[in-house]
Amino acid sequence: MTENPNVEQEQGVIASFTIDHDHLNPGVYLSRVAPQSLNNGTVYTLTWDYRVVKPNTNNFMSPTEAHTLEHLMATELRTSPGYKTKAEDLVYVGPMGCATGFYIITQVSAASPLSPEAETQLFDQAQQDVAHDLKLALERFQSYSSIPGSTAKECGNYRLHNLDGALKQAKLFLKDSATWEYVYPTTQS
Ligand SMILES: [Zn+2]
Repeated sequence: MTENPNVEQEQGVIASFTIDHDHLNPGVYLSRVAPQSLNNGTVYTLTWDYRVVKPNTNNFMSPTEAHTLEHLMATELRTSPGYKTKAEDLVYVGPMGCATGFYIITQVSAASPLSPEAETQLFDQAQQDVAHDLKLALERFQSYSSIPGSTAKECGNYRLHNLDGALKQAKLFLKDSATWEYVYPTTQS
């Protein structure tokens, strides 16, 4: 499903800015691969672009909804059973500044050097796992009656939350998951 994005990028332009956002739809995209060779193989740090709404359509999340969803995602994906991505392989989950999606960073590893085809297969599997996990999490959010980590002690802006709004968004995002896309649109008109 994925295209190997492990390619040289133009200086000064990060890969995700080269994506044609006019043709980007809700989906789970692999936006960056950072391989690190270790003694016994390679650890790949994968950055996922989980796009929840089509960019520039005014359907973006409100800051309160995005913030609450961030808390729900980080908590649910790291602490509940049933997820294919192990908690220790989930490096980061956070909302995009444009409020149309989330960045998710995961790690996968290979014990021996992989061919480009085997790498692509590994990333495809990771993508399926992330998509599975997101669908499950979006479903499970509906059982939350309070926001994890939302006291002044635990959060940098504890008033900036909206559980009802976040759960409504989660319902819409789950509905959209039936038509998620998994490969970035190519730059063309
Ligand atoms: Zn917070």
